[in-house]
Amino acid sequence: SPIPDYLAEALRSVEADQSGATADYIPELADADPDLLAAGLCTVDGHVYSAGDAGVEFSIQSISKPFVCALALADRGFDAVLEKVGVEPSGDAFNEISLEPGSGRPLNPMINAGAITTHTLAGPEEATPEARVERIIDGLSAFAGRRLQVDESVYHSELSHAYRNRALANMLRAHDIIGEDPLVAVAGYTRQCSLLVNVDDLAVMAATLANRGINPVTGAPVVSAKVVRQTLSVMATCGMYDGAGDWMTRVGVPAKSGVAGGLIGALPGQAGIATFSPRLDRHGNSVRGVELFERFTADMGMHLMEVP
Ligand code: GLN
Repeated sequence: SPIPDYLAEALRSVEADQSGATADYIPELADADPDLLAAGLCTVDGHVYSAGDAGVEFSIQSISKPFVCALALADRGFDAVLEKVGVEPSGDAFNEISLEPGSGRPLNPMINAGAITTHTLAGPEEATPEARVERIIDGLSAFAGRRLQVDESVYHSELSHAYRNRALANMLRAHDIIGEDPLVAVAGYTRQCSLLVNVDDLAVMAATLANRGINPVTGAPVVSAKVVRQTLSVMATCGMYDGAGDWMTRVGVPAKSGVAGGLIGALPGQAGIATFSPRLDRHGNSVRGVELFERFTADMGMHLMEVP
């Protein structure tokens, strides 16, 4: 296949760009090797290709959000989830206190306020917080096709700095959007964000969305096609935070970024793509990841709004 060579060539074309900076709010992210660079692609018929530092693991961070949103939709149904979290782009940064005036409902599940809420909606209603975290790890592992592990040092570091997320969770509790101890919700959400992945895992996870919810490598059904449609729509409109409109016009695929430098895009019916490069732009999106995706769109004509 020409794909690995193509990916390697794409990586070389962005290699020199050292702009942006690693996330600085915890030492584990601040001290990441900023030069790491990788890309992976998984087709809906289950072929996985990658190039660069593809074996390197990093924390999934916000890329967990669409998958946990999908699990919540699958486990509780659309009405129960939509009652608590909206689907409107916030146009704000990922950690902004974007709650609907009055109801206190977070605007969407891709910002932290919404993601903390969907975290509490995964699994059966009566599940303990521990069982819910297990459900999420099992579910994200099913998307990836292998057992994912928590990076305990990222988890503890992140939790000890989670003042802003605690503030968000307290607001959510005050509005009865979440029905439990806000600190417990933040701890679970932080564990979810601390799961370790590499670009192959992320490409398979994205490809599972591109493949109507069936993992193309393992063949396992993970969520329904209806849940996938909802999830990809929210990724398309809200996945890149306050950079979402720019992303949709320039790249044109549903996507999600994470603060460790990961980025995924799902091309419905075709492939899942993932990149990793830790330096971030002002929106918190990977600089070289965005450049790579712009290239992929130009080369492969993957913009969804382009008439073939
Ligand atoms: N764990 C991070 C947080 O909640 C995730 C943010 C991100 O990846 N954008 O702040």
